[in-house]
Amino acid sequence: MRPQIVAGNWKMNNDLDEGRQLAKSIKEHQDDIPSDVTVILAPPFIHLSDISREIMDSPLQLAAQNCATEEKGAFTGEVSASMIRSTGARYVIIGHSERRSYYNETDEIVHKKIQLALKHDLYPIVCVGESLTQRENDQYFSVVEAQLDNTVFKLSAEDFGRVVVAYEPVWAIGTGKTATPEQAQEMHAFIRKKIQENFSSDAAENTAILYGGSCKPANAAELFSQPDIDGGLIGGASLKPGDFVEITKSFT
Ligand code: PEP
Repeated sequence: MRPQIVAGNWKMNNDLDEGRQLAKSIKEHQDDIPSDVTVILAPPFIHLSDISREIMDSPLQLAAQNCATEEKGAFTGEVSASMIRSTGARYVIIGHSERRSYYNETDEIVHKKIQLALKHDLYPIVCVGESLTQRENDQYFSVVEAQLDNTVFKLSAEDFGRVVVAYEPVWAIGTGKTATPEQAQEMHAFIRKKIQENFSSDAAENTAILYGGSCKPANAAELFSQPDIDGGLIGGASLKPGDFVEITKSFT
């Protein structure tokens, strides 16, 4: 059975007190969160250690939103995978579309980061997804396939076994436009088929594929009820503890 996951990407929001308060509120609702759902919080780098302490006695998991392409050394302003791991984080989001578009992250960079994350015992949550133009031009399957080919499909089967894939159509992120459950399911099924072709049926069966893009309590249940959607990567709604906890309860 593959895991069911809800991950909250806080992006560049919340000062330290606000972030701690948000984590605390989610932790206080722990009893409402189904025990078979893995819930991950991804605060900004600078708050990882504090949030780690805040959630220490709970099943909540911690993720970074990015990591460096290098191991260590003279890379001013960068944060390495091993530094992230040392805070207690177990996951790292890699290749988010905002990193790809605002910071020119290529598939090559994404691949390097994934390798370092794996080397330092982090589970990479690897984001893929097409732009609006690519969807309108019917290029969405080929775009996502190329993103997978250039990154996670270059890994060994063993390493791939530690990857979480997040399908995030760029046109649905922060726009209020959600992919319909059918559109999301169609892509998730495609990704799973590609995993099977590149690795094995077992790998396809066991890989968690999350949907991201304006997911909220009102649409989470319909999305999560699709056979190939194993949860969500949540942006805006992860900043509201009530909404975020509600989303964790949206699996059937
Ligand atoms: C995201 O940034 O990963 C995301 C899905 O954002 P939102 O939920 O705000 O669309």
